[in-house]
Amino acid sequence: MAHQTLSLRRRLRFMSRAGGTGVARYVGNHPFFAGVAGTLVAVAMAGLTLLTLSSGRADALDHARETAQNLVSIISTDLERNVEIYDLSLEAMVDGARDPGTWTLSGGLRRAVLFDRATTAAYLGGAYVIGPDGRVIASQNGEVDAAVSLADRDYFLVHQRSPAVGLYFSHPYRSRLRDGKLSIGLTRRINEADGTFGGIALLAIRIEYFQRLLDRINTGELGSVFIVMDDGTLLARKPFSSRDIGSSIAKSPTFQVMAAHNSGSYVANSAVDGVSRMFTYARVPGAPLIAVVAPSVDEVLAPWRRRSRIAGVLTLAFGAVFVMVSWLLAFALRDKMRAQAALVRLAATDPLTGLSNRRVLDKRLDEEWRRARRSGQSLSALFIDIDHFKQFNDVYGHASGDEALTAVAECISATVLRSLDLVARYGGEEFAVILPDTTAEGALRLAEKIRHKVQSLRVLHRDGEAIAVTVSIGCATCVPAEGANALDLLAAADRQLYAAKAAGRNRVNSTVWAGRSMAQDSSP
Ligand code: GH3
Ligand code: MG
Ligand code: MG
Repeated sequence: MAHQTLSLRRRLRFMSRAGGTGVARYVGNHPFFAGVAGTLVAVAMAGLTLLTLSSGRADALDHARETAQNLVSIISTDLERNVEIYDLSLEAMVDGARDPGTWTLSGGLRRAVLFDRATTAAYLGGAYVIGPDGRVIASQNGEVDAAVSLADRDYFLVHQRSPAVGLYFSHPYRSRLRDGKLSIGLTRRINEADGTFGGIALLAIRIEYFQRLLDRINTGELGSVFIVMDDGTLLARKPFSSRDIGSSIAKSPTFQVMAAHNSGSYVANSAVDGVSRMFTYARVPGAPLIAVVAPSVDEVLAPWRRRSRIAGVLTLAFGAVFVMVSWLLAFALRDKMRAQAALVRLAATDPLTGLSNRRVLDKRLDEEWRRARRSGQSLSALFIDIDHFKQFNDVYGHASGDEALTAVAECISATVLRSLDLVARYGGEEFAVILPDTTAEGALRLAEKIRHKVQSLRVLHRDGEAIAVTVSIGCATCVPAEGANALDLLAAADRQLYAAKAAGRNRVNSTVWAGRSMAQDSSP
């Protein structure tokens, strides 16, 4: 038994030491702190991952936009350079046609004057000088079909109506002079010496030229790239669809944004196939053309989505494990705290009566003694002993003796009511009561009350007999002073108890002790 008590004490000391520093002690005292903190950390981690992923999405879109802008710029530069070259050829044709000397030359020489080498470039459908009546008067390949009139073409009419048009880009048309190939015409007006309409110079460019330009651009499976005139006429598109070429997208909301700005980028659903694309566009300098590169948003974001799925799943899994471990730790801490509290309770309690035990009594008595010494208040102690208890045991047995002990303990507890008072089992059938800030009169009154109540107690024996018990009580009161200690007060009460026993039992003896030394004890 003594060994067990010792090991219990050691464990308690260890546990209180394990409290450690401030934070550790706080966590130790608030077991769910670990769970809440773990959950918060996991949520913060998830938030951080979400933030990183969403910025990754923006980065992917930015990168795709940059790439698209570079491609637009390549297409645009190519178009600009070629248009410049074609325009130089047109100007040479206009100058040659206006010179009356040109028309006096023989066919071969005249062609050499009118048409420079650029007009033989690939994708050029032909170069023509057309008279004021709409009929061809000279062509780069020498064929002149006088039966064909081009007077109804937009490129002819526009120059016929106004001298101020300059370089004109026609709408796509099917060639009448050649093989019916889809072409657009680049034209300039030829003025007579007096400024009147003298016909036009025409360079026919096969639509294939634009299509070839786009073939080099890779925009994924769902992306698209196209060249459109500033009035919405589609010149080329990849993926290619012959049906679309020459059609107008002027009504589509995507085109209206392009028409309103020089360059830009926006995400929209395609009116044709519903695919969400990032339309990145720029006007071609010196030409009424807009180059557009539109990668599919899904394709742009595909690698990011793959990465996000992995990161998301891992974050969720780690987070869940983290939260679970935090709460397991929290519950384990709570259980440990409960066990610790139970041990503390156990170590301070007398198992039979449930009263405080001797250890608590000694500690509290010392504390109250010091407190009373500081404050100068009186401190009282009662020593209670059951009368003829050995005989009680002998007659009724130990089980009934235990019941009687418990009943007396309850009776004392029920009578001593103030929160600072302490009732403890001193040992055997002896109890001690500490009454801080209590005078001798008060202690005596309380002792009498206890004695009275115990006297009227009846302990039920197993054969049905109701047995009475009595107690003798010794009271001591003092104002603690130098030269004595708390145990002296208890000893004084014990002497009063002895006196009460000697005087016949079932009575209370009381003394006011000076609280200095045993010699000053006023007890008999
Ligand atoms: P007195 O009136 O002089 O106090 O006589 P007494 O018999 O009570 O005195 P004594 O101290 O000689 O006897 C105490 C007895 O209390 C001894 C023991 O049989 C009994 N006792 C002590 N502890 C327990 C306990 O835990 N249970 C039971 N049933 N009896 C106990
Ligand atoms: Mg005794
Ligand atoms: Mg006794």
